[in-house]
Amino acid sequence: MAMSEERRQALKKMLFDRRREIESCRPPTTGKYEEYDGCEEIDIYLAETREENLDRLRRAERQLAEGTYGSCLGCRDEISLERLSALPFVVICKRCDDEAELQVLRERVPGNRWGRLFAL
Ligand SMILES: [Zn+2]
Repeated sequence: MAMSEERRQALKKMLFDRRREIESCRPPTTGKYEEYDGCEEIDIYLAETREENLDRLRRAERQLAEGTYGSCLGCRDEISLERLSALPFVVICKRCDDEAELQVLRERVPGNRWGRLFAL
């Protein structure tokens, strides 16, 4: 299914804003976090992984231009704008994520105790 123009514009703006946010944050030459410039809005982790994140954002922007960004790899549905804003590189929707998590938990819980643990 083709992405609506409204969604495409919203995603484009979201990715652009995110990239600008990261670009405006300059890592310190001394390697001290306190000397990061313009990083108030961004957490240290993002600043530390700045180049990697910029690469991923540029890739996401290319994928958006190609119309492949924001589709769930699991079910092919569109991932919600809210979820993508919070997690720009996420590749599966909330529902598939929850299911995958459940699957992992089920595999961790031996036998059939899963149901008993959570069916309270
Ligand atoms: Zn999905």
